[in-house]
Amino acid sequence: MPYFDMNLELTWEDKEIKATAHKFAREVMRPIAREVDRMTAEEAAGKESPLWEFLRQAYALGYHKALFPAELGGLGFTPLQGHILNEEIIWGSLGLSGVLLLASWPFFKVLQSGDKGLIDEFVVPFCRTNEPDITACWAITEPDRGSDSINVNESFFTAPGARGNVQARRDGNEWVINGQKSAWVSCGPIATHGMINVQTDPALGLSGGGVCILPLDLPGISRGKALEKVGQRDLPQGELFFNDVRIPGRYMFVGPDRYSTWTANNLAFGNAAMTLFAIGLARAAFDEALAYSKERVQGGKVLIDHYFTKVRIARMFGKVEAIRATSRAVWNLAVKVYPPFPEYSYSAKAICTEMAREVIDEAVQLHGANGLTREYIIEKFWRDSRALTIEDGENNTLCAMAGYFLKETYPRSDGRQGAG
Ligand SMILES: Cc1cc2nc3c(=O)[nH]c(=O)nc-3n(C[C@H](O)[C@H](O)[C@H](O)COP(=O)(O)OP(=O)(O)OC[C@H]3O[C@@H](n4cnc5c(N)ncnc54)[C@H](O)[C@@H]3O)c2cc1C
Repeated sequence: MPYFDMNLELTWEDKEIKATAHKFAREVMRPIAREVDRMTAEEAAGKESPLWEFLRQAYALGYHKALFPAELGGLGFTPLQGHILNEEIIWGSLGLSGVLLLASWPFFKVLQSGDKGLIDEFVVPFCRTNEPDITACWAITEPDRGSDSINVNESFFTAPGARGNVQARRDGNEWVINGQKSAWVSCGPIATHGMINVQTDPALGLSGGGVCILPLDLPGISRGKALEKVGQRDLPQGELFFNDVRIPGRYMFVGPDRYSTWTANNLAFGNAAMTLFAIGLARAAFDEALAYSKERVQGGKVLIDHYFTKVRIARMFGKVEAIRATSRAVWNLAVKVYPPFPEYSYSAKAICTEMAREVIDEAVQLHGANGLTREYIIEKFWRDSRALTIEDGENNTLCAMAGYFLKETYPRSDGRQGAG
């Protein structure tokens, strides 16, 4: 269902983006997402999966490169246009839009690094293609290092000797990588390229790390089985294994000197994006609840004609609008200002995803027992929503990190008073 936009300054182009993306989400993404959701994880990630038809059509529309500059071949969307597009496609499917967003993420980070050689080698081909022959994943989480790997402000992060599961050692002009990333790497089973966080210097503890970009067909790389999980089944996930994988030195575009800051900043950008997942899915659930309340008759009239249902629907509506307002503000800040303000992204991610889960849970409740059956899509939204407060940093971990920044930097004395 289209929504009224409280931003009265939307241009004709903004509205066109919204309408086109919504049509794509409704007509292409929703049916494919439901089909993939019912497959085994292995089938969902396989060559015959309808997921590829979604990607083919999304790439043909240029949605994979929406935020990339026009001079590289991207669509050059403004932050607001990027937000509008992503809210719509996430409304279509949280899992499938995760595949699309992950496909561009590592290339966006390489672009931000400003390394011309890597931009020419990796970013330009991605922006030039209109086929899903280049897709990506980002792997930071490890079997033994979940929250540990992002908690850069805690003392254990710099404790000498703390080891990660993936090690990289220098050998002449190359790096040699060994170890294993966790089964939760989104698009691990299908990506052509990966952005991988590795440990390069255990003497510096977990802060002795690096980040590299690499093609995933290099000798020594293998993948685990696609993960069977409760929700977001249309987002394939799985392990990556590295056995003496050699990459040129230049692929390691972040070294120990910037590793902690880079990780915090990358997470700030990622969690601004997570608020988009919250708004897209919360709105999808709200739309279903409103429609159902106009169909289901109890007590002699449709649910919405009962006073109490109006109260419930209006509360959900208010939460959806609050999530969108917060999400747009935080997204705008994260895209336009570098280095970012992590406290805004981390706190907003926690609040928006928690509010989204409340809306989605209430939408299920409003469906009664029907909401628990596969006949109604609200059941899928509910399963998909469970990970929102865990992925890209468990919410309590993120809030602890935001609290660190608030303790250290407020009231601000560094002259940074806002986006200007
Ligand atoms: C849908 C989904 C998509 C994901 N995509 C990716 C991806 O693309 N790439 C990737 O690398 N990873 C990905 N992840 C992994 C994700 O980032 C991790 O799950 C997350 O960081 C939490 O780590 P963990 O699951 O190991 O939990 P743990 O770190 O084991 O935490 C378990 C619990 O312990 C608490 N806890 C942890 N540390 C402390 C502490 N020091 N003090 C007190 N309490 C603590 C946490 O708050 C949490 O409640 C994804 C996960 C999901 C669910």
